[in-house]
Amino acid sequence: MGKNLSEFSIQYIKGVGPQRAKLLSNLGIKTVEDAIYYLPYRYEDRRNIRKICNLRYGQLETVTGKIISADIIKLHKNNLKIFELIVSDGSGLLKGKWFNQPFMKRNFEVGQEVILSGIVKMNSYRGFGFEIDNPEYEFIADDGDAFLHTSRIAPIYRTTAGLSARQLRTIMFNLLNFCIEDISDSVPEEILKRNRLPGLKESILNSHFPEAETDADILNRGASIYQQRLYFDELFMFELGLSALKKGREIENGITFSPKGLLVRKLLDILPFSLTAAQQRVFDEICLNMKRPYQMNRLIQGDVGCGKTIVALMAMLNAVECGYQAALMAPTEILADQHYINIHKIIEEMGIKIFLITGSTKKRPLDDIAAGGINIVVGTHTLIQEGVEFKNLGLVVIDEQHRFGVMQRALLRKKAVNPDVLVMTATPIPRTLAMTLYGDLDYSVIDELPPGRRPVVTRVFNSGQKSYIYKSISDEIKKGRQVYVVYPLIEETEKTNLKSAIIGKEAFEKMFPEMKISLIHGRMSPQEKEDVMALFKKGAIDILVSTTVIEVGVDVPNASMMLIVHAERFGLAQLHQLRGRVGRGGSQSYCFLLAYEPYGEDAKKRLDTMAETNDGFRIAEEDLNIRGPGEFFGTRQAGMPDLKVANIIRDVRLLELAKDEASDLIGSDSALKSVPDLRKRLEQFWKGKIELFKTS
Ligand code: ADP
Ligand code: MG
Repeated sequence: MGKNLSEFSIQYIKGVGPQRAKLLSNLGIKTVEDAIYYLPYRYEDRRNIRKICNLRYGQLETVTGKIISADIIKLHKNNLKIFELIVSDGSGLLKGKWFNQPFMKRNFEVGQEVILSGIVKMNSYRGFGFEIDNPEYEFIADDGDAFLHTSRIAPIYRTTAGLSARQLRTIMFNLLNFCIEDISDSVPEEILKRNRLPGLKESILNSHFPEAETDADILNRGASIYQQRLYFDELFMFELGLSALKKGREIENGITFSPKGLLVRKLLDILPFSLTAAQQRVFDEICLNMKRPYQMNRLIQGDVGCGKTIVALMAMLNAVECGYQAALMAPTEILADQHYINIHKIIEEMGIKIFLITGSTKKRPLDDIAAGGINIVVGTHTLIQEGVEFKNLGLVVIDEQHRFGVMQRALLRKKAVNPDVLVMTATPIPRTLAMTLYGDLDYSVIDELPPGRRPVVTRVFNSGQKSYIYKSISDEIKKGRQVYVVYPLIEETEKTNLKSAIIGKEAFEKMFPEMKISLIHGRMSPQEKEDVMALFKKGAIDILVSTTVIEVGVDVPNASMMLIVHAERFGLAQLHQLRGRVGRGGSQSYCFLLAYEPYGEDAKKRLDTMAETNDGFRIAEEDLNIRGPGEFFGTRQAGMPDLKVANIIRDVRLLELAKDEASDLIGSDSALKSVPDLRKRLEQFWKGKIELFKTS
């Protein structure tokens, strides 16, 4: 009888026990299966370790040697305590330094043999010698399993306080010995053959304890066939789930819309502009899709300000014209408010009933919605979760910025309604990647901005340069223009000491007593916000101080300058969204990023990227680099399965293979009847996320 590895507690593995089990759970390892997929983050070739005298500056190096001193050095200048380790291997000396961690001393004794690794630096004070700051270390001990740790390619696992790299390696070794025979491969043989992928057991073993011939560089790039096999598995499960969803939808009936387009024409008459070619093309694609008898699931992608909302609105009008209701859902209340503010006047002018429902709306005409008296409902994602009942919901538009809509769409399916779905995203990810990631969606892109948009000149300032900023603001206003000032929070919080918008507004009033300054923030009611925005649009306000509520939706061409305070605290996508509010008129616009030091490397990268480019595509790429895929795509919040070993950027080629294989398999056997093990595994992979197979 095989063991059930996904339920077998790690605690019972040799060398673990209750105490270490707790430590391991900090690393996300609770079961044997968790541990199997807890891969090394790095591999160290310990077969020919470099002599200290041959170390290269700036390189990641590993040395072994004997500790000849281990002392705490105090620097009186800034009260800094440095723990300093000096190691000799007979060819030279290497210093390891830990700053403000005097407790490190407890770990070391003179005479011990250690392995140290890290980036080698020159001693900055003396101008020669070798040093490593915060080196990784491991003791060489003769405890019978030295073969695991030295003279081989050693796997290096991320560990946690109280559990050394060496201990974790030993645990991993015991664990694999214990369970390797019980690992069963559920990926069909032909798929492995076709893609030249090795078996699962050997792949797991070789990814943890690589065989002798392996090249450490290849392993560190994640490019060994064994690692690739494990990445493939995960991506395959991911794509298989998406394919199953798509298939499930295709066999369900959808609504056949056949509008004459009267309402759309009416809207276009009211709008003060005409559509861009890209908007028209995408709208045509949507119309074709809505006329077909199965459910539409389409992603509209386009940079900030390209005009996605209007296109979505036109689709909603088509639904309404055919006698259906439509819902527009945003990920946050603020965004929902903003959409409502932007569209409700035009909509009402056309004689259509629209209503806003968010967590804070008290009046909820639920009966009216259920009876079909309200045509369009705007709200947050909770709209569908909170059980608002529609009479005949025909189209759902999801404005989700960066998030996956899989969860929401799956929820819709579960409620057994089959409306068409449009998902809008401002994340300009490469087309192939989008196709694979949103594998269950059709895809349209608005790749053109409305005419008259000009690149915004963007500069980063520190807090010492405020007087220049204030002068620029005042000059701009003297030219008859208007200015946005954006703060990240509305009230001073003790912990973070953010400059609040309220205090900021008062400061501006003192500085510019002759100017009209107003405040807009997220705790105002939609009506209050709308009133302020109307005044700003009319030119009756010079400086609009705000929290991030203006992130979306407002369009004031005469506003030509934006100051973002504490810019170091904003995410890249958010900065780009904000900046999209200026640069809409004929004159040159400016975005000033006021950043308070000290801030980290990532913040610096974000600010630099903003100063460098206005191109949403490049910004998204950079954002992806900085934040990493999981966070970037918001898969975590949206309830997508977590990718533990694969990386959609690094492994994009495998992702494509996985997608093709997945859709072939689902295409020929939609319920995976021929591969019951795989189906079981798939359901486990997506467990608690969504229901993949509606009938089972
Ligand atoms: P996003 O794609 O970022 O959601 P919006 O739909 O909010 O963009 O549109 C941004 C602004 O551009 C809105 O104020 C909208 O009225 C305006 N807009 C949309 N389409 C056009 C167009 N074809 N010509 C001029 N302005 C447009
Ligand atoms: Mg938008």
